[in-house]
Amino acid sequence: MEPIYVPSLLKAPQKTEVIEFKQFIPELDTLMPVRGTLSVSHAGTYLQIQATLEAIVTLTCDRCLQQYNHRLNVSPEEVIWLDVNADRFEDLPLEQEVLSEELTESLHPEGHFDPEKWLYEQLCLALPHRKLCRQDCGGIDVESANPPTLDHRWAALQDLKGKLPREPTR
Ligand SMILES: [Zn+2]
Repeated sequence: MEPIYVPSLLKAPQKTEVIEFKQFIPELDTLMPVRGTLSVSHAGTYLQIQATLEAIVTLTCDRCLQQYNHRLNVSPEEVIWLDVNADRFEDLPLEQEVLSEELTESLHPEGHFDPEKWLYEQLCLALPHRKLCRQDCGGIDVESANPPTLDHRWAALQDLKGKLPREPTR
């Protein structure tokens, strides 16, 4: 997915670009490509972003540390303000920088909107706060973590040791 040059949206039909996609998103562990539709509309002073997303993410259970698949179906929406000062936030003093982050996202009117980054953020926001492979996950199974077969093998070894001829002592 290519970044969208904001002014190019003004020339698009209804000032909107609609992208249908089916692809893997960098840094997001998904079983299959993320599918969906993304629409970016230029509304003069802001961009209106809407999407419908479908993904199966691979998560690690907080309790048993097993990997499991989690289906996500989300329809995120966001308004991104177009602000000529959007690029200058880094130069502002600290207090003002915090303030500008409290205001919603903004972008320079002649900047680029990165659809892939936006999708990544939306999917991350949609991930469950507590990751459990199932509601009643009992955590790490102590029995299977220390398989009893190990004891049998030790026993066999001990047996063998008893049958071996002793090393001659000098
Ligand atoms: Zn689990």
